[in-house]
Amino acid sequence: NTVGAEYDAWTEEEILEYYWGEHIHLGYYKDEDLKRGAGTLFGHRVKDFIEAKEDFVDEMYAWSKAEANNGGAKPRKILDVGCGIGGATRRLASKCAGATAEVTGITLSTKQAARATALAAAQNIPNAKFEVMDALAMEFDDDTFDMVWACESGEHMPDKKKYVEEMVRVLKPGGTLVIATWCQRHTPPALTKEEKSKLQFLYDEWAHPYFISIQDYCELAEGTGAMKNVDGDDWTKQTIVSWRHSIWAGVYDPLPVFTRPKIWYKTLRDIICLERMRRAFGEELMQYGMIRGVK
Ligand code: SAH
Repeated sequence: NTVGAEYDAWTEEEILEYYWGEHIHLGYYKDEDLKRGAGTLFGHRVKDFIEAKEDFVDEMYAWSKAEANNGGAKPRKILDVGCGIGGATRRLASKCAGATAEVTGITLSTKQAARATALAAAQNIPNAKFEVMDALAMEFDDDTFDMVWACESGEHMPDKKKYVEEMVRVLKPGGTLVIATWCQRHTPPALTKEEKSKLQFLYDEWAHPYFISIQDYCELAEGTGAMKNVDGDDWTKQTIVSWRHSIWAGVYDPLPVFTRPKIWYKTLRDIICLERMRRAFGEELMQYGMIRGVK
């Protein structure tokens, strides 16, 4: 499959981990960070690019209401669907939900699961575990987890309905679902020809079959008939500077790219795609979707 193979390649070439750290998702920038120019060329150091991603995990955890939904207690069994090399999985297991939690991350990429496991051992986080498994056909029993977490994996799913249904299936009654994912604007009004062509470029570059809207995700969760208190939010404002921040990280520290000539072309293509992504979010063709609910 393409997604697993792409992430295997990205994990092997190490560039993604060098610049993005353990987290393959956007960062979170508060109003005060933005006022101080965080993420801009000259504000590159106002907020560290990798620290912004750690903040994202903490903000997403708080926003999920997982603890309030669990009578004020921390969720114990957590599933991270599409875990990358496990940055969030380990942060959930060490900080957000902490050492009493048992956090499992799944990914399609064998190389990512191996890297995630090695990092958990190196960081002494034995309660974070990783498996290669398809999110669309999970091997877990129904009603297994207190919290199901998905951060920027929905983009890759060829079947969003099945993705949401599977996550709801493995969630325990009373458990919390939280999803962060790149969405496109809601339709109607129908997409124009120009919007369609912009989206097609974004789908094709990084193995994305299609996107849906925040409202569509909420409807999918509600459509399972098993979820309550479902709502969504758009975090474009809090995340949009990440796109350029990731470019400036390379501008300030280009050596790792220069010393690997084979990846120049790919890096250049990625920079173009990062910039076109930022523009699509700026034009509200894309939205940064946050979806939460309780089973
Ligand atoms: N959530 C991670 C990584 C996001 S990158 C982080 O926050 O760092 C997207 C991840 O989704 C990759 O690990 C990819 O392997 C995974 N993914 C995509 N489609 C998947 C599927 N069908 N089943 C399981 N994982 C999938």
